[in-house]
Amino acid sequence: MEGQLALADRMKLIKPSPTLAVNAKAKAMKAEGADILNFSVGEPDFDTPDHVCAAGKQAIDEGFTRYTAVPGIPELREAIVERYAADRGWKYDPDQVQVSCGGKHGLYNMAQALFGPGDEVLIPTPYWVSYPPIVLLAGATPVLVPLDEKANFDLTAENLMKCATDKTRGIILNSPSNPTGAIFSAKALEKVAEMAMEKGWVIISDDIYDTIVYDEGSLAHILDVEPRIKEQTIILNGVSKSFAMTGWRIGYSLGPKHVIASMNKIQSQSTSNPASISQKAALAAVSGPQDFPGKMKESFLPRREFIINELTSIEGISCVNPAGAFYVFPNFSAYYGRKFNGKIIAGSVEMSEYLLEESFLATVPGAAFGADDFVRFSFATSMDAIKEGMNRVKEALAKLA
Ligand SMILES: *Cc1c(COP(=O)(O)O)cnc(C)c1O
Repeated sequence: MEGQLALADRMKLIKPSPTLAVNAKAKAMKAEGADILNFSVGEPDFDTPDHVCAAGKQAIDEGFTRYTAVPGIPELREAIVERYAADRGWKYDPDQVQVSCGGKHGLYNMAQALFGPGDEVLIPTPYWVSYPPIVLLAGATPVLVPLDEKANFDLTAENLMKCATDKTRGIILNSPSNPTGAIFSAKALEKVAEMAMEKGWVIISDDIYDTIVYDEGSLAHILDVEPRIKEQTIILNGVSKSFAMTGWRIGYSLGPKHVIASMNKIQSQSTSNPASISQKAALAAVSGPQDFPGKMKESFLPRREFIINELTSIEGISCVNPAGAFYVFPNFSAYYGRKFNGKIIAGSVEMSEYLLEESFLATVPGAAFGADDFVRFSFATSMDAIKEGMNRVKEALAKLA
């Protein structure tokens, strides 16, 4: 054999997750002693609550360490059903629930079960980094629906109409959004539901940030706006963000029985089941006290206010106030085309590199989310780090000529 072993054609479709890549580079610089402030992390800066950890430890001590049912243990699926009934008034049966190895994996199972060659999937943009690759890996085509910063990144009927075709099979909604923190208005969701009902689209509603909403009562959900859409909707959620459990890898999906059954087939032939120990921990999270997400949100509030005020006080920078999640997505494009040491800051990738190399600030370039005008900052970091970080941003921008 000459040269390297050949890879599958599929590998030409995707790149590694850029958010994880920035994080890795920042960690490497930090390991070499650089005073890195990390705004690139996509997870809460909280530890998993004690009672949840205790449930995980107990699972180990009790020998709950074997394969489980493919869709997840019945108690956990039952608890998820009860939580939705109590909190939202939505009725699901346990066989309409799949527990997966993180929310991302739920999306992957969904795309594999629903989409294939010739199918187009609408993705409001800026999008979460993994949506296009997950659609591509299913053999389908992501169709980006541009959202306007000036319209608070809300979906509009015009944008939807422009991007929908006969091949459209579905749409992925993420509200509150990663990276913008924006939420979709009830009016936008009404339009999505109307088009979906008319054309038979599937709606994937990624609700992973639904417990982190800053204006109580401001979050509309498509199932409340149009309950008749339920048989066409798949809800994606999990404990990663709400209970600071990113490392435990537990997500869950709720939807029509036949779709969940198909997702279970895929899961049975790939991961078999999510980790037994993590499922017991997630059970404690879902069925136990629900005050943790609210406490986390309270602690994010002053940081959100501070970072927004600082960023928007900088000449040329605009930034939508995030309604939820823990990210801000400022528009840095006024600084593109400027230079530092002869090197041109052409777009968000160069801007993020510049902030990392010159100011030791780790951020994620907007290009990773399909929106090159922007740079994402996570404010799930300490207030001290945010204060120092904003000073460094101002200094770095002032150095550009
Ligand atoms: C974090 C996140 C998820 C789920 O992540 P997991 O760690 O796989 O549970 C899903 N969607 C969005 C938009 C996210 O930011």
